[in-house]
Amino acid sequence: MPYSIFLDIDGVLLPHPPLTSQTCTLCTLPLLGSRANTTLESSPYPVCESCCLKNEIGFEDHFTFPKRCLEALNRLLFTLQPHNLILSSTWRCDSSALDNIIQQFSEFKTNNTNILSSIEDIPLTTNKEYHYIRQQEIHAYVKDQNLNYDDIVIIDDDESCWTDEMFKPVLGERCVKCDSQKGLEMSTVVEFIERINKS
Ligand SMILES: [Mg+2]
Repeated sequence: MPYSIFLDIDGVLLPHPPLTSQTCTLCTLPLLGSRANTTLESSPYPVCESCCLKNEIGFEDHFTFPKRCLEALNRLLFTLQPHNLILSSTWRCDSSALDNIIQQFSEFKTNNTNILSSIEDIPLTTNKEYHYIRQQEIHAYVKDQNLNYDDIVIIDDDESCWTDEMFKPVLGERCVKCDSQKGLEMSTVVEFIERINKS
């Protein structure tokens, strides 16, 4: 299938839990008992002691994507083999942010087939001048490019993508719905793939 995947970043690859969060940003387990070491100096996000000790991903700054989110994206891309990847995040308006994404993809390591590390650029974006409602930004791109609704996949945490009344009937079912505080999860990816395989 010639899928076109619209990728958001904040709340998808970069979860943003509240500072009062009771779960670890990286592994999502509760910050209880021995997991109560809740911060890294360089990050406002709570991280459990276990993840601090493992130091798996190098949580150097506020913009490092947790490996579990990248693993979930890698699975989705491997399974769907999209024709196009389109950046729909506001990160599209900042070339250094795009470089950051590509850099993190290039450093991604997995025991599975690595799709992310082979992505050298994301040249396609939704309109950089038009910021309104995410669903409408995406729909404008779909119409401009004359894409088939059934070939669209939207990875986002913005509820407008599945609640906006105007476009819900045509694109609501095409969403991989992310919880902003957890980001893209493997379970969500697996459920989505099962659903579209049945339809
Ligand atoms: Mg977002």
